[in-house]
Amino acid sequence: MTYDYDLFVIGAGSGGVRAARMSANLGAKVAIAEERYLGGTCVNVGCIPKKLFVYGSHFSEDFEESAAYGWHVGDTEFEWSTLLENKNREISRLNGIYRNLLESPGAEIFETHAELTDAHTVQVGDHQVTVDKVLVATGSWPTVPDFPGREHVQTSNDAFFFETLPERVIVVGGGYIAVEFAGIYQGLGIDTTLLYRGPLFLRGFDDSVREFVRDQLIEKGVNVRFNSVVEKVSVTNEGKVARLTDGSDVVADEVLYATGRRPFSSSCGLKHAGVLTDENAAILVDANYQTNVPNIYAIGDVIDRMQLTPVAIAEGMCIAYNLFGGESRQVSYENIPTSVFCQPNIGTVGPTEVAAQTTYANLHVYESSFRPLKLTMSDNQERTYMKLLVDGDTDRVVAAHMVGPEAGEIIQGLAVAIKAGATKADFDATIGIHPTAAEEFVTMRERSR
Ligand code: NDP
Repeated sequence: MTYDYDLFVIGAGSGGVRAARMSANLGAKVAIAEERYLGGTCVNVGCIPKKLFVYGSHFSEDFEESAAYGWHVGDTEFEWSTLLENKNREISRLNGIYRNLLESPGAEIFETHAELTDAHTVQVGDHQVTVDKVLVATGSWPTVPDFPGREHVQTSNDAFFFETLPERVIVVGGGYIAVEFAGIYQGLGIDTTLLYRGPLFLRGFDDSVREFVRDQLIEKGVNVRFNSVVEKVSVTNEGKVARLTDGSDVVADEVLYATGRRPFSSSCGLKHAGVLTDENAAILVDANYQTNVPNIYAIGDVIDRMQLTPVAIAEGMCIAYNLFGGESRQVSYENIPTSVFCQPNIGTVGPTEVAAQTTYANLHVYESSFRPLKLTMSDNQERTYMKLLVDGDTDRVVAAHMVGPEAGEIIQGLAVAIKAGATKADFDATIGIHPTAAEEFVTMRERSR
């Protein structure tokens, strides 16, 4: 049987676009449907605009530090509308780049809703097309728990478009988005309260990193409140009031919920094709991203393995090469480095110390904490933290954790070494680049534990 398309991709986010354009490059007849924005969450309401906001917010500290270097910057004033307009212009430019990336190899773009009507038919807007293979890459969507006043809170989808900058913000959550936005707001001079339901945020990260980030955020003036559960949110003359279960109130102009993202699988017709999902709406796939329906595949946030753009991209490459390149690639999920762009940043690769203790009977821990050279002449008390975990039996470095400026940039390089199986002796034999923070990773001689 011949079909209109060899591959139909639903969702033009990071994973979908990569799979579509690589498949088209490999000679497949490809179509891709996107009902919202080309580039998906990462480009439009995620990684990219978030990082631009992080850069924007950090200038307040840069101005202060510059005084110690002899600069007199005078009165500074922040204009939210300028940041917003420039951010929007840059995102539009990136949308155009994504369009080119798809059109150049010949993938057809449908900027409309698409859903399966059966395993080989897709309803695209008002017409139907037949397809050999389908890739669902519809991503995820912010979730907000149920509580009275839920309609008064915002999510990261809204935070990129606030018309006016609030003077007071409550951020609820303790994951990537919560700590990143708490840092952005604090840097922009907003009175920021972070409410997290447990005793310490950033669950899943190394405990030393979590404690260090807590201390840094508090030092910078974020009102960090742990063991804080919101009971309801109401709107009063004072602003939005979050009533906590301990009876206390926190008042702000905006309440940002960053309490996780749920696979966005409900509107692409999976039921019509018989594709199975789990209780969290994640599409069930095997090691080759194949669903229970053999011609339908899924990658990225919608399979809820690791909600990270580079992971979705790697999965997209894998699908393209396996389906149309005659290869049998697999994505390695081991030692995936990641960064949280709180201020200072977290960079991490490999297991936490607690997790590593269960794998390695003879774990060696090396640590370092110091004030970055750049700040030593200023009043900024920010510190940097680094930890290396080494398997004492094989001498292999199994993890590197860091909190400090450009931690992501530094850990990306170390991730290659760790992936390649570098030993502590290799680290020790590597000459440092002086003076940098990163050189600390090759000069840690004394074990902490
Ligand atoms: P996360 O899963 O990282 O964190 C969710 C947070 O919300 C956790 O602290 C969780 O607490 C808390 N939470 C969950 N449910 C509730 C609830 N009902 N009431 C109160 N708190 C709750 O989600 P994010 O929304 O921060 O980010 C989504 C994903 O996007 C991330 O996991 C990450 O993969 C990705 N991302 C990556 C970034 C990067 O690479 N820099 C940046 C931003 C997002 P608890 O720990 O107690 O469960």
